[in-house]
Amino acid sequence: MKKIVLLGPPGSGKGTQAELLSVKENFIHLATGDLLRNEISNKTELGKKVKSYIEKGLLVPDGMIVDFILDYIRKNDLYKKNVVFDGFPRRNFQAEKLEEELSKNGSGIDKAILIDVDENTIIERLSTRLICSGCKKIYPGNYEDDECFVCHNKLIKRTDDNIDVIKNRIKVYKEETTELLDFYEKKGKLVRIDGNDKPERIFEKIKEVVL
Ligand SMILES: [Zn+2]
Repeated sequence: MKKIVLLGPPGSGKGTQAELLSVKENFIHLATGDLLRNEISNKTELGKKVKSYIEKGLLVPDGMIVDFILDYIRKNDLYKKNVVFDGFPRRNFQAEKLEEELSKNGSGIDKAILIDVDENTIIERLSTRLICSGCKKIYPGNYEDDECFVCHNKLIKRTDDNIDVIKNRIKVYKEETTELLDFYEKKGKLVRIDGNDKPERIFEKIKEVVL
């Protein structure tokens, strides 16, 4: 069974690729952001804590996220399944804990795939992105419809996607990802894929690595 980590800057389309792996190749798409949003909307103990950090503008502590994800792996017995991790791990500490956990019942992460995209392409993509006014799902600027395919609410422009915000997000991404790339490179698990390509082409390349 395969365990894949997808890495890439905001706007790299890694969520889309993870979704494709899930739909077409039977991977469990472990979308950390979505899981945490669920916790918040279901008002669980964890959800309340996470919400209070976000509202104060603070980062949710690494340890809290690690506990949550590892717990999720155990509860759903993901050891015996194909899993693509999206949005986790973000730092070495998290990556180490994930390796430890998976190694108890298997062989850790098989490949960490970086979808590499030029900074200019990221800015172009993010500054045109759309968001569902209902469920907050994100869509590319060239999405062919004007409503969400999940909840059918109208798609609107993302208000926080101005250039300065985007540049800052790229900076944060670089800061937190450099050591993570190093971590997987040293283990011989890092694969870089050119993300300046059509989603279908990128998916073909990912499949070559994964399957
Ligand atoms: Zn929606």
